[in-house]
Amino acid sequence: MAKITLSNLAHSYLPDPQGPEDYALKELDHVWEDGRAYALLGPSGCGKTTLLNIISGLLTPSQGRILFNDEDVTDKATATRNIAQVFQFPVVYDTMSVRDNLAFPLRNRGAAASHVRERVSAIAKMIGMEHDLDRRASGLTADSKQKISLGRGMVRGDVNAILFDEPLTVIDPHMKWELRTQLKSLHREFGHTMIYVTHDQTEALTFADEVVVMHEGRVVQMGTPEELFERPAHTFVGYFIGSPGMNFLDAHVKGAKASVDGTEIDLGADYGEPAGRVRIGVRPEFVTYHAGGSGLPVHLRRVEDVGRHKVLRTDFFGNELNALAPEGAEVPADSGRLSFDPRGINVYVDDWRLAPRDAAPGPSGRAA
Ligand code: ATP
Repeated sequence: MAKITLSNLAHSYLPDPQGPEDYALKELDHVWEDGRAYALLGPSGCGKTTLLNIISGLLTPSQGRILFNDEDVTDKATATRNIAQVFQFPVVYDTMSVRDNLAFPLRNRGAAASHVRERVSAIAKMIGMEHDLDRRASGLTADSKQKISLGRGMVRGDVNAILFDEPLTVIDPHMKWELRTQLKSLHREFGHTMIYVTHDQTEALTFADEVVVMHEGRVVQMGTPEELFERPAHTFVGYFIGSPGMNFLDAHVKGAKASVDGTEIDLGADYGEPAGRVRIGVRPEFVTYHAGGSGLPVHLRRVEDVGRHKVLRTDFFGNELNALAPEGAEVPADSGRLSFDPRGINVYVDDWRLAPRDAAPGPSGRAA
């Protein structure tokens, strides 16, 4: 297992890049801790695969270095990096049995037969194929073949890292949940450094200790699921994480108050008087829709019943603002007011979160 250091790393697919817009991966400096599970999350084209391929050695970065522990592996071939990889589509040996497929990475390295037996049996259990070990892989569904690929990726205990590139794409929805949970418990048990690429926030948030959110070739935030939910560092994170995502409103901020089109909103903390494009962001979980009193005047456009609660889609001068209401709550028809819980409000200047003036540093040294 290894700590992975990305130092001054960037990549352009163009031979002669002129500016940041020519880079599929914009400069980044990060240390990914040994033994943690990371998810690379972002929409299609944001640079996830580019970053993963640099880590695996399929791609040499046009700038910067990559280290596994203290060893510079930037120019090393994939085969010598001692990593396991699981791809989007299954890679299995059709003529071999399930058992031999799972055992392959261990036997290839000369592992003792007893160790092979023990690991293959544990992994077969994890992927729910302990009764299929003697079947040939050729007759299996794509779903089962992908489970074998996942198992093969997990079977060795001595790899520097395990890299997963959207591994659950071909797995049926029920099994997805089960495999994700098992991957997580296997991670707890064996402590591999894991990097998991996905565009699915549920997969990222349930699997990872830390989620690395990417947007247009940039890492916009690296944090725990709680941090991404409570303190999105960038408006993109607020919008991309959550269902529905964060609400944003242009505002004038002075001290602990924001003014939105004449309505004053209590921010709960002092933000000074920021200049630039200033917005407040608040998740629907912290927004209450009510009939009268103070608050932002809105029209109710739609109510969606999603089981545990209702999503209220409201309109504020063409700006959609969403609120949640408990199942069975009375919802005033047509128009009402929105109130915001100050604990759920963040302030953004030119898309980046502004820490309040009196914020104590968080456990990572960042202002909470
Ligand atoms: P997806 O989920 O669709 O795979 P991604 O987040 O993994 O997307 P990348 O595949 O890393 O994103 O692509 C990042 C950017 O680099 C995109 O604009 C893409 O078009 C471009 N790109 C990727 N591979 C190449 C390549 N081989 N040559 C040129 N441009 C590329």
